[in-house]
Amino acid sequence: MIRDHFRVMRVDLASGRGTIEEVDGRNTVAGGSGLGAHLFNRYGLFDRPWNDPDQPLIFAVGPLTGYFPLMSKTVCAFKSPYHDQYSESHAGGRSALALRFCDLDALVITGKAPRPSCLAVGGRQLEVTDAHFLWGLDIQRVGKRLRRMFPGSGHRSILRIGPAGENGSPMACINVDTYRHFGRMGGGGVMGSKNLKAIIIQGTETFDLPESKAYPKLFQSVYEKMTATDMMSKYHNLGTPVNLEALNELKCLPWRNLKQSTDPAVSGISGEAFADETLLRNTACSGCPVGCIHIGFVREQFDDAHHFLYRQVNYDYEPIFAVGSMLGITDKFQVLSLLDEVEKVGLDVMSAGVALAWATEALEKGILSEKETLAPLVFGDVKPYAEAVHHLGHGANDFYKLLARGALKAADRCGGADFACVLGQEMAGYATGEVFFTAQSHGLRHSHLDTGGYSYDQVHEEKDPKAAVAFLVKDEAERAFLTSMVSCLFARGVYKKDLLAECLGTLGYTALADSIDETGRRIQRLRWQTRLATGYDPAAVRIPKRFHEVVTWKGPMDSEYMQALSERYRQAIIDMGRPSSEADPQPKGETP
Ligand code: SF4
Repeated sequence: MIRDHFRVMRVDLASGRGTIEEVDGRNTVAGGSGLGAHLFNRYGLFDRPWNDPDQPLIFAVGPLTGYFPLMSKTVCAFKSPYHDQYSESHAGGRSALALRFCDLDALVITGKAPRPSCLAVGGRQLEVTDAHFLWGLDIQRVGKRLRRMFPGSGHRSILRIGPAGENGSPMACINVDTYRHFGRMGGGGVMGSKNLKAIIIQGTETFDLPESKAYPKLFQSVYEKMTATDMMSKYHNLGTPVNLEALNELKCLPWRNLKQSTDPAVSGISGEAFADETLLRNTACSGCPVGCIHIGFVREQFDDAHHFLYRQVNYDYEPIFAVGSMLGITDKFQVLSLLDEVEKVGLDVMSAGVALAWATEALEKGILSEKETLAPLVFGDVKPYAEAVHHLGHGANDFYKLLARGALKAADRCGGADFACVLGQEMAGYATGEVFFTAQSHGLRHSHLDTGGYSYDQVHEEKDPKAAVAFLVKDEAERAFLTSMVSCLFARGVYKKDLLAECLGTLGYTALADSIDETGRRIQRLRWQTRLATGYDPAAVRIPKRFHEVVTWKGPMDSEYMQALSERYRQAIIDMGRPSSEADPQPKGETP
């Protein structure tokens, strides 16, 4: 059913009770990213810390969820333990469709449960159950228990945290249906601070599809575009790991804490190597015919009689970069075994790998000792890294607790800030150049997906800060609209403005269909207003020296160009963060 308002379930974990609220704003904030920011402005506490029990943890979907392919993401919005400011993280799995089958546009969780708990929500159900016996279990073991406790499939989605989340780690992820994650910015830590081990979304309702003849025709045409284009072969066959060799060739693949940007040893961890020797199967988020999720295997001996256990591990480009090239691990099975360790403790793999790469170089340089790292970290040696992942996830000592707050924070205390590969948060795997370094370090989520800065570097030879920043601002607005529809960004080449308008129009969202550009820009401003109002100061962003030393196929970095880009982008962010129109939803906090 198409509605002008959002149907939002609010749950208070302290009392175990919930309400359904109708929230206005469909034609101004659309859903997903826009709705996340809108709801944070309604329920968030700008002047209180991220772990205040009353801070909201928000999950939002979009108007096209359940109606069109690859509208498969859920946006999680919260005040981040990483920087104590507003942030978002996106994940797929079955979460979005399960919310749609609960007839919900968003779930807002506040309060702190009196004891470790699970929250189960359905179309007509809400239950907060004691889960003290699950506290301390790793992601795999808790997953098995939860699947037995909350039977179902298809429209059931399980969101859970591991020990890292229980510790409130700023690097803790929320695992979604085993193979997807709300990875970055510590959403898992927010769940832990609320004593919330798991959220089970049970999509028990049904929803009507439009009866018009136009809808099935349009659905079929979108489906064919998704499967007939090269997107299908690119993401389904080798998947995102295909980029390892390509970026290595361009001298853009970070190796050993970004001391290098290329290495012939890439052949051991290339997309082909993983597909030929480790791939078991592909799987997909609900509602996606592409199936880009690649599952490999690791083999573990579990007794002296040579009996082995086979474990399935998801791999993608970013995880392979983070615990492969960044740590100098060049054997695909070793990469998978390290990914398995990261999964168990419930850490964000990119943050963990990059932070451990910094710790390794700091140990090499004598800035740290084994007294801090507890394990003899050496690039290329997998065993100490497996130990370190465990220490980082469990916050084993003061050093690992500090490292979980970010390599730059650890460097500020111990030294070694010059080689901390931090761009707002631990870097993504693209050493493509000045535009990407500027974009990730200043970007709203500090994600490589906030904007296409990495691709801009690859296609533009000229150094024009004005044109580059104009691109970042425009591209971000388009992505903000797409993530408000909750599209998988792999589909951005298909879901262009005209097609989105047609999809929205077919469902009856004509006002949104007619205002895509304007709505995207409005959501972009709202998100920046919200981030700035929670304390973000773009002028305080640092781009460590290591990034200025990178050499790509274009040659060495141009620090003056990077400085000019930073200054211009900061100003653009501050301008976007100024409430500029009475039609804009106004944030509650003060912008600096
Ligand atoms: S392309 Fe991959 S990430 Fe995107 S919706 Fe499909 S399976 Fe999920």
